[in-house]
Amino acid sequence: MRFTFDCYNSTSRAFSSVVLFSLIFISGVQASPCDIRVLLGELHTGVWRVLAPGGFRLTRESSGMNVRVPNQELTVTIRRGRVRVNGRIVRHDNVTLVPQRGRLEFNGKAYDGDLRVITRGDTAYLVNLLGLEEYVSSVLRSESWPGWPTEVNKVFAIASRSYVLAMRQRAEKNKRPYHLKNTNKHQTYTGAHDCDVIKKAVDMTRGIYLAHDGKPIVAMFDSCCGGVIPANIADFDFKRAPYLARKKACTFCKRCKIYSWQASWPLDIFEKMFRPRVVTIGGLRDVRVAQKDDAGLIKKVMLKGRSGQIELSGDRVYSAIKEVKSFCFDMAVKSGKVTLSGRGFGHHIGLCQWGAREMVRDGWTYKRILQFYYPSTQLKRFA
Ligand SMILES: [Zn+2]
Repeated sequence: MRFTFDCYNSTSRAFSSVVLFSLIFISGVQASPCDIRVLLGELHTGVWRVLAPGGFRLTRESSGMNVRVPNQELTVTIRRGRVRVNGRIVRHDNVTLVPQRGRLEFNGKAYDGDLRVITRGDTAYLVNLLGLEEYVSSVLRSESWPGWPTEVNKVFAIASRSYVLAMRQRAEKNKRPYHLKNTNKHQTYTGAHDCDVIKKAVDMTRGIYLAHDGKPIVAMFDSCCGGVIPANIADFDFKRAPYLARKKACTFCKRCKIYSWQASWPLDIFEKMFRPRVVTIGGLRDVRVAQKDDAGLIKKVMLKGRSGQIELSGDRVYSAIKEVKSFCFDMAVKSGKVTLSGRGFGHHIGLCQWGAREMVRDGWTYKRILQFYYPSTQLKRFA
């Protein structure tokens, strides 16, 4: 549920200022989007197995290659960038595997669209090419909840579509062989599904995305913002993405269970999570927050022992302990136990999913919600 920027959520119930941001639908600003390219695999040496119920066509537009392969399974072998399909060397660096009918399968998952094997030097990339709307629909199956109101899923669809379009622009500028990864490094993508509720929300917002300065925005989101005000977060480049510098607090998620979390460990168990560094201070005795930023996010943590103390970054604590759900937390030691108490679930930037769900319950429309979380943006639509 987390977007990252590099390849990369109590507000006042009064909306007088929110509605000042006008939502403008502009038709015909851009041609229909071409295929989205999602990275499914990357190999120097190894094997990919791809299935298609009706066999394949192997194509390469620039060379006119178009070969029918009746086999239901293809073995793509990579050895230092050289590609063999079912044992035969493929003399092109850009081969597309097209299913004759139905969906492709790879690693137990079904995919819409085609697969392309792209080689760059000694590395081969397995890339799924599919339509923008199919991609957004698939992402929502992983990143949303079908049981939530359609209006919320419309919000998520527009955010997801904006994000992938921004990534596509960036990838094309950097000449990267794919637009995004299939993990939560970008957006979690697990292939095709037949969930009608999700598909309906995607259809109802077909082609709509958020733009800033005319370009699709990097519409980051997390599960729950914990009431953190993004504009106060340190070490985030808001110059690149001013629409993520929201100055109003979201208080909507406060009603949800996910809003706060707590976890405790005996001192010796907590210590084990930071070995070997903690060994140097002679056993853990105390922990405390050493530094927070203006938003209340942890920057530094101090671990004290019998013979010294060490400092850890907030990132280090977050990544080392799966029970730590966000960067907004306090620490305390009592009766030999370390207790961490926090707010939020995720990175606190962009849209707050649980907050958006509560807004819909209060009667907010998808447009108002998007304007709240992504200020100074406009809604646009492909022709
Ligand atoms: Zn929130």
